[in-house]
Amino acid sequence: MQFDTVIHDGLVATASETWKGDIGIKDGRIAAVAEHLSGGDRRIDAGGRIVMPGGIEAHAHIAQESSSGVMSADDYLSGSISAAYGGNSSFIPFAAQHRGQSVDEVIATYDARGARSVIDYSYHLIISDPTQEVLEDQLPRAFARGITSFKVFMTYDLMNLGDGGMLDILTVARQHGAITMVHAENNDMVKWMNKRLAEKGLTAPRYHAISRPELAEQEAINRAIQLAKLVDAPLFIVHVSTEGGAEIVRREKFNGAKLYAETCPQYLALTRADLDRPGMEGAKYICSPPLRDGATQNALWHHVAQGTFESVSSDHAPYRYDTTGKFLNGENAPYPKIANGMPGIATRLPYLFSEGVVKGRITLEQFVALSSTNAAKVFGCANKGRIAPGMDADIAIWNPENRVTVTAADQHDNMDYTPFEGMELTGTPEIIMTRGATIVEHGALKAKEGQGQFFARQPADLRGKPGYIAKELDPAQNFGAELR
Ligand SMILES: [Zn+2]
Repeated sequence: MQFDTVIHDGLVATASETWKGDIGIKDGRIAAVAEHLSGGDRRIDAGGRIVMPGGIEAHAHIAQESSSGVMSADDYLSGSISAAYGGNSSFIPFAAQHRGQSVDEVIATYDARGARSVIDYSYHLIISDPTQEVLEDQLPRAFARGITSFKVFMTYDLMNLGDGGMLDILTVARQHGAITMVHAENNDMVKWMNKRLAEKGLTAPRYHAISRPELAEQEAINRAIQLAKLVDAPLFIVHVSTEGGAEIVRREKFNGAKLYAETCPQYLALTRADLDRPGMEGAKYICSPPLRDGATQNALWHHVAQGTFESVSSDHAPYRYDTTGKFLNGENAPYPKIANGMPGIATRLPYLFSEGVVKGRITLEQFVALSSTNAAKVFGCANKGRIAPGMDADIAIWNPENRVTVTAADQHDNMDYTPFEGMELTGTPEIIMTRGATIVEHGALKAKEGQGQFFARQPADLRGKPGYIAKELDPAQNFGAELR
């Protein structure tokens, strides 16, 4: 067979095994994997380096307005470039519906924005206004387009749907095979804390972490799961930041719920002490849910290693440390008026590799699963996230020994800081491909604006998840069957 590209002498890593060999690429897809492959118009000598599926970043806010109207600093060009430098071959940012907008309008807006991407992309749809039309016509239309994940919020006044709204979305999602993602924090607990802190004049960045208690996340994670169980719908809990929340996820997964979850590097690497930095610098570390403490870091690492989480995602939410971002409401704004979020799309995988694989917390195969393969399964990326014949040639070649110090300048995003500044990491991606085309090679950008393509997704892979039938809705129990 004539190959366009052969990557030879790699240590090929998948989610299930690692082996020495070659990969043949033809027309953007993996055509062959073998011990030795000859030929190839281009031959890339991997020289024993790790050859793995390119990362799939499943949680990023790109060219997205927050509900309070702050535009993220990265668009699909800078965001996708930064993602590629960080070892990603594709990503799935959010397309956010704000109240009053139709879903069709939202998707058209993001199609125009996404057209600049250098890597392949899809969207998760954020729903904040589930009107009858949205539920009955627009969501099914989005699903038919291959947008098979819908995100909802339990917090923020302009986003929060209430339990009934969530049940509506979960039900529509289940009917069509979509998965519902949820930001789980108890809105009233947070508002009540905000009020108490404001009454005492406590508005510095550090109080952000106090205003959003661990209990608010744990309560909401538990509630979200019970809501999903009532209608037997698949659910994905984003950015789990607490040990208690992770414990609930682990228990409910054990019981068979159609449940998935992620955590993020910031909850593994940083703590709320970062919010205490002098002046307003703590604003750089404001994200929701907030950073926690060292004991939580240890517990979350344990859950990463033991399989509680399908993915470790960046939650890249880039707001600059200036009046276009963090300080849109003034340089001394009280913490509730400071944009929530931090960048991290380029550091997610180097951090997870260095602190996870190099330090022996997780295996290389787990790293592949957590960075790419599991996201492909959960979010229905049928041709991505695996090294196997027929798959898209979305590939990252890693040098496992290269040592770097993280700096904002090396992130290749539109940000003016990185929360991981100064961190020493071992292992970096050197060549990143999307459908066989080299996007980044040894620090140089090789891609053209707009060469990434939108990819339609399949329903979530629910095999091995029996789900949960509420007694009251169980036909076998002779009542309630009419509601199913
Ligand atoms: Zn997010």
